[in-house]
Amino acid sequence: MLPTLLRTNARRSFGIGFGLNEDQQAIQELARKFTADEITPNARHHDITGEYPTEIIRKAWELGLVNTHIPQEYGGLGLGVLDSAIVTEELAYGCTGIQTAIEANGLAQAPVILAGNEAQKKKYLGRMTEEPLMCAYCVTEPGAGSDVAGAKTRAEKKGDRWVINGQKMWITNGGKANWYFVLARTDANASAGKGFTGFIVDANTPGITVGRKEINMGQRASDTRGITFEDVEVPDENRLGSVGQGFKIAMGAFDITRPLVASGAVGLARRCLDEASRYALERRTMGQPIINHQAVQFMLADMAIGVESARMMVWRAAWMRDQNQRNTYYASIAKALASEVANKSAADAVQIFGGNGFNTEYPVEKLMRDAKIFMIYEGTSQIQRLVISRYIAEAAKAASA
Ligand SMILES: Cc1cc2nc3c(=O)[nH]c(=O)nc-3n(C[C@H](O)[C@H](O)[C@H](O)COP(=O)(O)OP(=O)(O)OC[C@H]3O[C@@H](n4cnc5c(N)ncnc54)[C@H](O)[C@@H]3O)c2cc1C
Repeated sequence: MLPTLLRTNARRSFGIGFGLNEDQQAIQELARKFTADEITPNARHHDITGEYPTEIIRKAWELGLVNTHIPQEYGGLGLGVLDSAIVTEELAYGCTGIQTAIEANGLAQAPVILAGNEAQKKKYLGRMTEEPLMCAYCVTEPGAGSDVAGAKTRAEKKGDRWVINGQKMWITNGGKANWYFVLARTDANASAGKGFTGFIVDANTPGITVGRKEINMGQRASDTRGITFEDVEVPDENRLGSVGQGFKIAMGAFDITRPLVASGAVGLARRCLDEASRYALERRTMGQPIINHQAVQFMLADMAIGVESARMMVWRAAWMRDQNQRNTYYASIAKALASEVANKSAADAVQIFGGNGFNTEYPVEKLMRDAKIFMIYEGTSQIQRLVISRYIAEAAKAASA
C-alpha cells in the first residue's frame, strides 16, 4: 500500500492531460454535427462528379470551421494547432476530399502567419475572414516534389518588382484560390537554404495560367491543378520575409500543417472502424455475424489500435507547436503513422465488406481511394522517415560526443 503522502502527490501531479477543455469539446461537437449534416450526406456526390464543394465550404466558413488558426487581430478565431486538429478529424470523418479542400487554406496561410509582416497579414489573412475565399500553396513542380531544392521556378528583381517564371504542379485549390504562396529561386547559385524566396501572388495577376482539374484516384472533391507563371509581376511588398529565406518558410509551414494532415488520416481511419464494425454486426456467415469470427475481430482491433495511437501522436505534435516547442520530429512521426494507419484501416475495411467492399454502392472503396494520398502529399512517408532518421542520427552523434 502507498504511503499517504505519495498517494496525495500521485493524485495532484499529473504532468500530462488527455482531456479536452470545454471550448475544445464545443468545437468538436460543432464540427461533428456539421459533418453529419453537410459533409457525409454529400460526399458521394462530390466523389462521383468531382464538383468542388463551394456551398459546403461557405457553410463551414460561416460557422468558423475554415481558416481556424488566423490570429484574432486579423479577424480569425486564432485557434491553436490542437484545436484545429480536433476540427480536422471530424471533417475528415465525413469526406477527406472536402476536408482537404478546406484545409489547403491553412497550408497556404501558414507561411504568411510565420513570416508575413503586419500589412501582408492584414491584407491577405484579413480578407479570408471577410468572405469565404480560398488560397493555395505553390511549391511542387513537375520535376520537383520531394526534392524541393530542385525547384526551377525563378523570380528576378526588376526595379521594385519581381518577375516570376515557372511551372507549379499538383496545387490543391489551384483553380479556386484568390492568392497563392509561391516559392521561387532568387539565386541560381546559392544553396537551397539561401537560394529561394517566398511570395504572395494575387491569382488575378496577368501571366498566370491555371491548368485543368486533375482527375485523381481519390479525394475528388478537392481541386488539384498545374499553374504556369509567365512573366508574372509581383511588387516587392509581396515578398515574404527576407530574400533567400523562402525554403525555410515553406518547410516551416509543415510544423503547423503536418499534424493537421495526420489528423485527417485519423478521421478517415475512425470512419473505417465505424463502417466495418457496423457491417460486421449485420453480415452473417456460417450461422453468425462475422464480428464473432476472430479474424474479423482482430482487423477491427488493429483499426482501433491505429486510430487511438495515431491520434495521440497528432495531439502531441500539435500541442508542442502550441507551446512554441520545436515539433518537426513529432509532426513527421504523426504524419507517417496516421497516413499508414489510414491505409491499413481502409484496406481492412474493404476486406471485412468482402465483395461488397469492392463495389461503389458501399462506402469503403472510397475510403481506400481517399486514403492513399495521405502517404504522398505534404511529404511522402519516405520523406517523413528521412526527417525522423536525421533527428535520430543527430541524437546518436550528440550522445556519443
Ligand atoms: C492530390 C495532390 C495534392 C497536392 N497538393 C499540393 C499543394 O497544394 N501544394 C504543393 O506544393 N504540392 C502539392 N502536392 C505535391 C506533393 O506534395 C508531392 O506530390 C509529393 O511531395 C511527392 O513529390 P513527387 O510527386 O514529385 O514524387 P517524387 O519526389 O518524384 O517521389 C517519387 C517516389 O520516390 C520517393 N523518394 C523521393 N526522394 C526520396 C529520397 N530522398 N529518399 C527516399 N525516397 C524518396 C518518394 O517517397 C516517392 O515514393 C500534391 C500532390 C497531390 C497528388
